[in-house]
Formats: sequence, C-alpha cells, structure tokens
Amino acid sequence: MNTSTLPRATHLPNELPGLDWVTDAARVARLSQDFAWFSPVLKRQLADKTADIAVRPRSEAEIAAVVGACARHAIPITVRGSGTGNYGQAIPLHGGLILDLSAYSGFGWVRGGAGRAQAGIRLADFDRQARPLGCELRWLPSTFRSATLGGLFGGGFGGAGSITYGPVAAPGNVLGLRVMTVEPEPQIVELRAPEAMLLHHTYGTNGIVLELEVALAPVLEWVESIAVFEAFDAALEFSSALASGPGLVKKEVCFLGAPVPAHLGPLAEYLPEGCHAVLIVMAEASQPGMENLLADFGGRITYRKTTAESGSRTLLEYTWNHTTLVAMKTDRNLTYIQSGFEPARHVEQVKALEALLAGEVMMHLEFLRTKEGRVNCSGLQLIRFSSEARLDEIMQIHRDHGVAINNPHAFILEDGKQGQLDPAAVAIRRRFDPQGLLNPGKMRSWKPLTPPGTSPRASC
Ligand SMILES: Cc1cc2nc3c(=O)[nH]c(=O)nc-3n(C[C@H](O)[C@H](O)[C@H](O)COP(=O)(O)OP(=O)(O)OC[C@H]3O[C@@H](n4cnc5c(N)ncnc54)[C@H](O)[C@@H]3O)c2cc1C
Repeated sequence: MNTSTLPRATHLPNELPGLDWVTDAARVARLSQDFAWFSPVLKRQLADKTADIAVRPRSEAEIAAVVGACARHAIPITVRGSGTGNYGQAIPLHGGLILDLSAYSGFGWVRGGAGRAQAGIRLADFDRQARPLGCELRWLPSTFRSATLGGLFGGGFGGAGSITYGPVAAPGNVLGLRVMTVEPEPQIVELRAPEAMLLHHTYGTNGIVLELEVALAPVLEWVESIAVFEAFDAALEFSSALASGPGLVKKEVCFLGAPVPAHLGPLAEYLPEGCHAVLIVMAEASQPGMENLLADFGGRITYRKTTAESGSRTLLEYTWNHTTLVAMKTDRNLTYIQSGFEPARHVEQVKALEALLAGEVMMHLEFLRTKEGRVNCSGLQLIRFSSEARLDEIMQIHRDHGVAINNPHAFILEDGKQGQLDPAAVAIRRRFDPQGLLNPGKMRSWKPLTPPGTSPRASC
C-alpha cells in the first residue's frame, strides 16, 4: 500500500465536511472488497488490500468536489458500483478513496428504444422503471438485483439477453456516456459511441462514468424453463440448436453438464440425479418451437413458470456466475475459469474438452452472440481446485484446443484480456485521468509522464 496517501485521504472530510463519508475501518474494508474470492489466486493476492476512506456522493457537484480534492492531493480513487465484480476490479491496490456511486442512481428517460440513467442505478431498478414505458435492458448479468449500470459497463460483459443482442461491447448497444475527468477542476464530457466504448471494461481506470445511454429491447412476457437430458451430447446439441434458431425469441440458454446440476441444491426437485440440464428463458410465443426441438433431442421439461409466476425466484440467478456462486456454497473447493469457444467449432470443442477433463472440469456454458453476431458459447466451467499450477495447466489445455481464456484469476486488465488492451483505451486515460489516479495498478500499459526531477507516483 502507498502509505504516503494515508494522511491526505483521511483528511478529506475536514476539507469537504458536508459529504456522506465512511471512515469506520470495518465498513471501509467491506467497501474495498468484491467477489475476487471466487478465485483462490486472487483471494491470496488481494487479501490485505483496502482503501483509507470511502464516500457516497449524491450529486454531480459532490462527485466533482471530491474528485477535484483527490486530484489536488494526488489521492488514488477506486470507483465502485455495487462491488459484484469478480476479478478484484473494485479492490484498491494502493489505498486512497473508494468513490461509491450507488447513491448516484437517478433514472433519466426512455424514448425511441433508448434509455439513459445515472451510473449508480441498479440494473433491476432501471428495468422496473423502463418496463412500463415498453422497454427493458438488452442484457442482465445474473447480479442484476444489485449490480449497477456503471459497474456493468466498467467491469462486466453482458448476461441474459446476450444470446440476442451480444455482449455490452457489440456495436449499437451503448450509445453514449457522460464522463468526468480527474483534475483539480474536473471537466465533464459527453462521448458518443464508438469513442465511448474506450471506457468499457477498463475497470474504472480511464474515466469516471456519470451517466450511460443504452439501446433497449422491447418488453416481452418471458417464460423460464428447465430441460433435462440423459445424454451430454444431446443436451449440448439441443442448446446450440436452440441458440441458433432465428425464429425462437430467447433471453437465456444455459447448459449445465453433469455433475453441475447436482450442485444447485435449491433446484434439486427439478434436476433428476445425474442429469444434464439446460436453463432456458424464452418468449411465450416461442414455447411450442422450443418444445418441438426438445422432442427431437430427447429432452423433457421439469420446470416452467412465467417471470411473473416465478416472483422473487428467477432461474437467471442460477446462470452465469451465479452457477459458480451457488455451487461454491455446497463445495468451497470449487473455482472456475472463463473461456470463449470458436463459433464454427464450439460443439466439437466442448465435446473434446469434456472427454479430456470430465471429473475435474465441469461444463457450464452460456450461449450468446458474439460482438460480430455469430452464435457461440462462452464457458464458465467449474473446476475442482487442486493447485494454482494445475489451474494454469487446465487453462493452457483449453488454449491448446483453440479455446480463448479470459483469465478470472488475474486482476490486471491486460492479463484478463489475453495480454491485449486497445492502445486507444490507454491513450484516452491521458485525457480523463492525466495523473493516473484511477484504480492505480490495474492497467499495465499505462506509463505515467514523470516530470524531470520528481519521483514517479506509485505503481500506475
Ligand atoms: C455471482 C456473480 C454473477 C455474475 N454474473 C455476471 C453476468 O451474468 N454477466 C456479467 O457481465 N458479469 C457478471 N458478474 C460480474 C459483475 O456482477 C458484473 O460485472 C456487474 O455488472 C458489476 O457491477 P457492479 O455495480 O457490482 O460493479 P463493481 O464491481 O462495483 O465495479 C466493476 C468495475 O467497474 C468500475 N466502475 C464501476 N462504476 C463505474 C463508473 N461509474 N465509472 C467508471 N468505472 C466504474 C469499478 O471501478 C470496477 O473496476 C457476476 C459476478 C458475480 C459475483
């Protein structure tokens, strides 16, 4: 930790007494955490990382006041939505301030198939307010109840809905944003896509996003169902055919190869022993088409409810990384990896890896459209953890089969993105965070400009 920041960060409340400060060490430590503990590697590496103080601004003026003070005193800032990220994105490496935006959560407007809101709005709250206006979000991460719009943009990928609309990153999904610079006198800039996308999935390192404008989907009545199969291949091929069917309107297709279903205790009554399962969320009108396909592959439905009937229990909270979360509750020795298959070969690649690693690697696949619109699947495979060396070997075996790994056991941006970060995303940081104060240590490609005769500030 950069202890030189300590006195300055903790003195911020003297300078700005009207703000909602969090100074209690235990609360600050909680606000310094996210779900990095999913990874035994990150759990070890990030165990002692905490901010010095946190603040919960309620208005743009309050955000500007605190950001300006941090810039004047060179205090690191880690922006936080709800802290559901799972690569330590929201964990400060060098102390300083947690800028908790969860109270900056106003819903703006919906018109012409687009909507706008402040970054701290929870995704569920956005949807609740947009649905009476005929629209809903195009993607819901399984953390939709707590995760924020700004956090999804800053640290997320997509979720339910990505089977139709692709990831957040697909052109046309994010239309624009309002961003604040980190300077003694913070500036506010409106960016439109594609430039706005330079701030996407950069862990809050290259600008503070205040508002987001996103394209929306029309509201539909969704039906949630569980299909079960005796054969792995039949369940996999059904999932791929369902995902590919252009006439079948869907929000979620989640494949869980045995023994993953056995780890989903709360759904046990719908998951016969030893089964392979597919969790499906589809439009009411597409149910007969889905059931015809199911008959072709020898599966059967064990659960079916409309979203309204399912009430507070939605199958979405058993998909994406909620599968990992629920499974880890039954077995703390599990962890996971994230992988991207090749659209043209995904079924063949899954079968090959299942044949090689079954027992140690348990197949969980999320079907989706790629940024370019091709049907594919992304793996969130559960792993029986034995050692960090074996985890690396398992990821390498996937790469050797042509499967990309987005390493969730790394907290540096480039390490999670197979070593690649768009140089333009690094360059834009010079404009929005010239001192490198945002989430320092997470962007390896950033090199501070050090004036001659001064010592470089910690670890940007
Ligand atoms: C159980 C579980 C399930 C998950 N399922 C999914 C899923 O289905 N799909 C998916 O994509 N992800 C998923 N995730 C990851 C995570 O929930 C999402 O990325 C989520 O959208 C993050 O939102 P948040 O508000 O919690 O962000 P945080 O964790 O608070 O922040 C995430 C990153 O964004 C930055 N950030 C936050 N707000 C801003 C802002 N206003 N300006 C600039 N930077 C900002 C933070 O600094 C941090 O680096 C899951 C995680 C868990 C633990």
